[in-house]
Formats: sequence, structure tokens, C-alpha cells
Amino acid sequence: MANHSGVVPEWMADRKIGWSGAIPFVLIHLLAFGVIWTGFTWPAVITGIALYFIRMWGVTAGYHRYFAHRTFETSRVFQFILAFIAMSSAQRGVLWWAAHHRRHHKFSDLEGDLHSPVRDGFWFSHVGWIFVKGAEETDFDRVKDLQKFPELVWLDKYFLVPPTIVGVACVLIGGAPMLFVGFFLSTVVTWHCTFFINSLTHVWGKRRFETTDDSRNNFVLALLTLGEGWHNNHHRHQASTRNGFYWWELDITYIVLKVLSWFGIVWNLRPVPEKVLAEGRAADAERKAGRKPAAAPVDDRGRMPKPAMDPA
Ligand SMILES: [Zn+2]
Ligand SMILES: [Zn+2]
Repeated sequence: MANHSGVVPEWMADRKIGWSGAIPFVLIHLLAFGVIWTGFTWPAVITGIALYFIRMWGVTAGYHRYFAHRTFETSRVFQFILAFIAMSSAQRGVLWWAAHHRRHHKFSDLEGDLHSPVRDGFWFSHVGWIFVKGAEETDFDRVKDLQKFPELVWLDKYFLVPPTIVGVACVLIGGAPMLFVGFFLSTVVTWHCTFFINSLTHVWGKRRFETTDDSRNNFVLALLTLGEGWHNNHHRHQASTRNGFYWWELDITYIVLKVLSWFGIVWNLRPVPEKVLAEGRAADAERKAGRKPAAAPVDDRGRMPKPAMDPA
């Protein structure tokens, strides 16, 4: 099939199965069932929970808010650490992740969005797109800013290194239960909670901002994903470090980043502009009064305006 108006690459339109992505994905799911034989030990369960939260934080603070959106700054050493923690969740390389996510924001719920539940159904947006041949490739044109760092390019190429180190450490420390509960099961749970952001947060929850996509805010998902559930906020203003825009919107990723900023580990956390906060308060008031708020501003192509410093 030919390209569609330049936004849908041929591989996305063709939708052939990519075995190199599909087989490891299915295999890790099957390995998680190994807990039936190894059983649950307390150290393994505690490790699994700890690895869930550490790696989920790596996904949201690292892959998402730092590498994909560049919403704060840090040293080259901590940048590498962020990439390593994020990649220990076995979600491919940091350049791959950022490039795919930047595509999602460019075409959110429109033709060209690789994972839109509105266009392709819940299951395709949740896991189906991972099975598409070509999805494993990185569109390097979208991540030129990250390609400047050879250590990130190396890590991206050898994307199995971080999860393998964590997996081997689990075996050495706690044997089979630690590997299957602490690593494989915890990895699968981290995956699906990450995927909820692609699937559920475009379906389940409340819309504050009338964005051009179907993104939603959802407290339960914000708890599970350490703040990523405030996805409608995020689609309204992707350039700010926090996704929970108001004090009652718990955003644990942001709280941790704020604490790290007190120690000088990260800095220049980008705030939510007062104009956007006021727009959100006005939208909440409109909905409370039973009216539909005005549409969020769009550019002359009908898309959400791109923040001034956004690299994508
Ligand atoms: Zn989204
Ligand atoms: Zn994003």
C-alpha cells in the first residue's frame, strides 16, 4: 500500500507482523507465568514492587518528560542514568522511545498516530502496534537532539544491556523467585501500566481541555503511572515538567524531580504557563455550569500549537 498523504509511512499502512518485536514480547509474558512454579518469596515480591516504581519513574521522568519532551535539564552523567533506569524496563532504546512518542504528539488521534484507541480500537493501541513490522525501527530524524550523545546512541543500539543487567542481578541476589517475580512479572506489569497511557488515557477519564485529540485526565491511572494519568493536561501543554497542573492532581514523578532539583541533580524544570492554568480553571468552571468549554487554541493547520522550545 502506498503512503497516505505523507504522514503514514508504508510500514504503518501495511501492518505486517514483525516477528523480531513480537516474539520477545510474547516470550517475556510467558516467562512471567514462571511465578506459578517458583512461588512468591517476600524478598522477591518487595523487589518486584520496588523495581516497578523505580522503572516506572524512569519511564515517566526519563523516556517521557526528559528525552521525548525535554521539559527539564540535567548533567550528562544523570542523563545517562535516566536513560539506563528507563531502559531497564525493557521498552527498547531511549531514541526509539522518544521518536515514537514525538510522533504520537504530532498526530495524536489523527491519521499517522501509531497508537490511537479512537482510530484503531483499544487493543491495537494498547499492544497491537508493537506487533507491526517496522514499529521496531527508529525514525532518527525526530531525535537529532539526542543523537549528539554517543553514549545514548550506544545504549539505544544495545537496548538489551540495561534489562539484562537488572535481570542477572536479580538471579544472583535471590535466585529463581527473584528473577521471575522481581524481574519478569514486574516488567510485564510495568509494560501494561505504561501502555495504559496509550490506550486508556485516550478513552477513560475526564477532559478538561478541549484538545484536538481524545486525551483524558484520570486519577487512578495517575496513581499507577506516577503522574502520567493527567494526560489531557499533558496534551494541552506538553512542554511543562508537571502533568498534574494543580495541587490536587498528584504527580509523583514531578515531586521526585522537584526534590532532585533541590540537590542540583536536575534543574530548569519548566512550569505550566499561567495562561494555561487560567484556561484550565475557566474550563472547569464552564463544565461545572453544564457548558462545554471553548476549544483549546490550535495553529493554522488545526493542530495544537507547538511549544516554543519543543524539539519535535
Ligand atoms: Zn496521548
Ligand atoms: Zn508526551
